[in-house]
Amino acid sequence: MKKLSVPFSRLHTTGNELTYLQQAIESGQIAGDGSFTKRCQSWLKEHFGSQKVLLTNSCTAALEMAAILADIQPGDEVIMPSYTFVSTANAVVLRGGVPVFVDIRPDTLNLDEAQVEAAITSKTKAICPVHYAGVGSEMDEILAIANRYGLTVIEDAAQGSFARYKDKPLGTFGNLSAFSFHATKNIVSGEGGALVINDPEMVERAEIIWEKGTNRSQFFRGEVDKYTWVDVGSSFLPSELTAAFLYSQLEQGEAITQRRLACWNRYHWAFAKLDFEGLVKRPNVPLHCQHNAHIYYLMLDSLETRTQVLAHLKAHGVQATFHYVPLHSSPAGQKFGRTAGNLAVTNDISDRILRLPMSANMTLDEVDQIITLVFEALGARWSVRTMFYQPYQQRKVVQQDRALSRI
Ligand SMILES: *Cc1c(COP(=O)(O)O)cnc(C)c1O
Repeated sequence: MKKLSVPFSRLHTTGNELTYLQQAIESGQIAGDGSFTKRCQSWLKEHFGSQKVLLTNSCTAALEMAAILADIQPGDEVIMPSYTFVSTANAVVLRGGVPVFVDIRPDTLNLDEAQVEAAITSKTKAICPVHYAGVGSEMDEILAIANRYGLTVIEDAAQGSFARYKDKPLGTFGNLSAFSFHATKNIVSGEGGALVINDPEMVERAEIIWEKGTNRSQFFRGEVDKYTWVDVGSSFLPSELTAAFLYSQLEQGEAITQRRLACWNRYHWAFAKLDFEGLVKRPNVPLHCQHNAHIYYLMLDSLETRTQVLAHLKAHGVQATFHYVPLHSSPAGQKFGRTAGNLAVTNDISDRILRLPMSANMTLDEVDQIITLVFEALGARWSVRTMFYQPYQQRKVVQQDRALSRI
């Protein structure tokens, strides 16, 4: 096999990025909140059917805004999975709040909704589900608990662009939702993100926090006659250059998602054999979750196997990787957070998960070669070619069986 060169994630462009960047530059207005920002925001607002969408510099920034809007005060607790990116927790800690780490479900690696209630105390202010790999958390149950206890729900939908739960886009369930357009995500603008505001009572304050704590947005709409400092805030808005790039990606978001799904499905189909033989476990996507192929992962039997598979892939030019160090086991997590429950699943899976390369512009040939390398590394004999012919052979066997039983 010739040596491959497949990065974990490869930039996919749609073809309109340069055109829009040129338009932004020629307009002479490249600071934030210009025409591309407005186009992205209204595109997203319509996509989500939400009250308001604000572009941010990152999902991290959107989560920080969400923590301010949820009014997290020193000592307030926010329930979240330990198996997530640091930004989910940092946003809370920056307000003096306490992240409360709860275990995940073994099938989707999302917050285990059955363990949320036991983690609630008189200090609990919010629940922050994370849609891992673009597969929706169990929002019906999470929203029911939040309603019962009067808690704010903040979706960390960093990985959730163009994915749905029960036919509604991720990001439309919480009071607030945070998206990422970081270069490693499905829809990208280098760095970038968005805060989706579904709770009408939070819209006005969100605009103020976004504009450094001023009522500048109201001033530009002619609602106040001068603008001034009215609340806390920061510079959360991206420049027009970022928004111009993002707009070209949003326009083709469905196509990007379909291309990723084609790769994901090919991996998934090919690894069925290894799954049936008990060599790996494949991701499980519940039928009511329409995912976006953000991540293709395999669960291996041990850290040793993962190290060996990673090394084999690397030797052939394929960059696979693992994922989060659980936050409850990190130095800052131990300092700032607390755990609820034993986090058995989180502790078990974090050493065994292997993420394979995934990009909208990966060729199916690259996918096939990566599949072959994983088979090799696990000492499995099946070639990709045999895999893809298997269903036809099976069908023939079944037909023969039927024919025989008729005799
Ligand atoms: C990527 C990611 C973030 C951070 O996104 P940025 O845009 O890089 O700030 C936060 N949470 C999760 C779950 C992520 O995957």
